[in-house]
Amino acid sequence: MSYRRTLKQPVGCTGIGLHSGKPVRLRLTPAPAGHGIRFLRADVGVEIPANLGHLSRQDHATTLSRDGVSVDTVEHLLSALFALGVDDVLVEVDGPEIPILDGSSAPFVILIHEAGLRPHHVGRQHLKVLKPVEVVRGGKWARLVPAEHFEISYDIGFDHPLLRHQAASLRITPRVFAEGVAPARTFGFLREVETLRRHGLALGGSLENAIVIGESGVLNTKLRFEDEFVRHKILDAIGDLALLGHPLVGRLEASKAGHALHAAVAQKLLATDDAWALVADPGASRLEPGLPHLRPAEA
Ligand SMILES: [Zn+2]
Repeated sequence: MSYRRTLKQPVGCTGIGLHSGKPVRLRLTPAPAGHGIRFLRADVGVEIPANLGHLSRQDHATTLSRDGVSVDTVEHLLSALFALGVDDVLVEVDGPEIPILDGSSAPFVILIHEAGLRPHHVGRQHLKVLKPVEVVRGGKWARLVPAEHFEISYDIGFDHPLLRHQAASLRITPRVFAEGVAPARTFGFLREVETLRRHGLALGGSLENAIVIGESGVLNTKLRFEDEFVRHKILDAIGDLALLGHPLVGRLEASKAGHALHAAVAQKLLATDDAWALVADPGASRLEPGLPHLRPAEA
């Protein structure tokens, strides 16, 4: 049996919003058992629960909304909270988006470690996948299938010599996440960055917070992992699956997917009554964290 967890103490930081280019203050505050992960737009006094019911956009980032008020780019923070097992927390922001920081979840992992974790005296319910569900759109798909642990197998392919194909399969534990997933940064193609800017998006985007891929290769940085791109897709998927509202026991298999497909397969799972169950003890919590690159077949 594992227990719901919150933070030991409040913690915060300031950074630039990716789309607005403006500074945003972020504060994570401990919350009571059952509170879940909630965003508070401190500037307008609206609280938005992090669940699929409040999902409003999933194109370049994941946006949550309530009563016409939204918080954009929530996925990198949600990914860190979900993977490190923070069930109950209030996330206060004084603007419409979460700061982009270095384009990865690593700064959020540092913040959460700085705050520390505190268990509640309330057992945690896990969402266990019992039957496969799948969403296919064109050549892209995402599937949730039964597994003993929380695992993700992902592959990507782009019409670019550097990124024809990349694949990774990981069992997601706090350690695997902190070491092998959280540091992987957002990436974009130079040609797309120019289009986004023309549409008034990515104004806070810079060579500091994304890997930019030009015609001949990566323009601005040394990669943190040889397969940093697919690791970032896994990071994004974890953040989107956090909207299920419970730790997941099952495997996401995804090919060339993105935020919209991650959310669609999660929604389909919840809408399929016999495909999932809430369980108190899936066994997963008793096992030691795995290693990066551990494939499900060897787990
Ligand atoms: Zn991302």
